[in-house]
Amino acid sequence: MTIAIPLWITHPACTRHEMGAGHPESIERLHAIQDRMNASGLLPMFRQATAPLAPREALVRVHEPRLVDFLLAARPQAGDYQRIDADTAMNAHTVEAAQAAAGAVILGVDQVLAGKTRFAFCAVRPPGHHAERRRAMGFCVFNNVAVGAAHALASGIERVAIVDFDVHYGNGTSDIFRDDPRVLVCNTYQDPYYPGWVSDPSRSHIVDAPLKYGDGSAAFRAAVDTRWAPAIEAFQPQLILVSAGFDAHGQDPLAGLDFTFDDYAWIGMRIREWADAHAHGRVVATLEGGYDLYALARSVEAFVRAF
Ligand SMILES: [Zn+2]
Repeated sequence: MTIAIPLWITHPACTRHEMGAGHPESIERLHAIQDRMNASGLLPMFRQATAPLAPREALVRVHEPRLVDFLLAARPQAGDYQRIDADTAMNAHTVEAAQAAAGAVILGVDQVLAGKTRFAFCAVRPPGHHAERRRAMGFCVFNNVAVGAAHALASGIERVAIVDFDVHYGNGTSDIFRDDPRVLVCNTYQDPYYPGWVSDPSRSHIVDAPLKYGDGSAAFRAAVDTRWAPAIEAFQPQLILVSAGFDAHGQDPLAGLDFTFDDYAWIGMRIREWADAHAHGRVVATLEGGYDLYALARSVEAFVRAF
């Protein structure tokens, strides 16, 4: 087997999109990750790429065309914000950043499917997993991981697994693929918590593993081993996409789970094992949440080290 150099994908617009002073989903998040990845010597081990902007036809695979056209047309003046929901807004750079965030996952998928790499990490924002087919919400504009999964299906892949360990439920991803069993969607999340998802046990390709306030390593690992692992092994995904949110870390200010850096290293190893067993090692991860800058940067480092 040849050694495949991992791929790091980002775009300058992702550090220009912002939603107002004091918003936790800040530009500093990407700077903290970049700084940590450089200081640890990991980033130089990646090939680095600039994300392309996702075209409209890739976005309408997962979002209603009317929503896509509304968002693509939103061009607030410099210094102005256009609100999407109570905690999500667009500035003059948001459309470009959101298209780049989705485009990053497309590029990652193309690169792993072409055999150019086996692991791509998309260091992008806005995040995506709350964006539903018909509405953008929860700091998210386009559902980046869903755009990537739909792109993989359009490229001939028949089974894609999306795993999501963000503290918040990935309601957008489950909404988009609720009637598409070609996509296995596995979540761990704090419940009850934002966005108040109600599981539908009739859909066996949506695997919800809720955790309760205060749960940490043991509960997380048990949920992955008893809920995700059997589903993934039965499904045999040809590609694994990761909604990589790091806000379940114990230091995160937004939520109440108690994951550790070691948990992110562990889940990275588990994903790599599944990918090696079923998917020719092909993994594309994209950044979702994580709001304590130190914990976020260290968690990303621990996660990507597994690859
Ligand atoms: Zn989150």
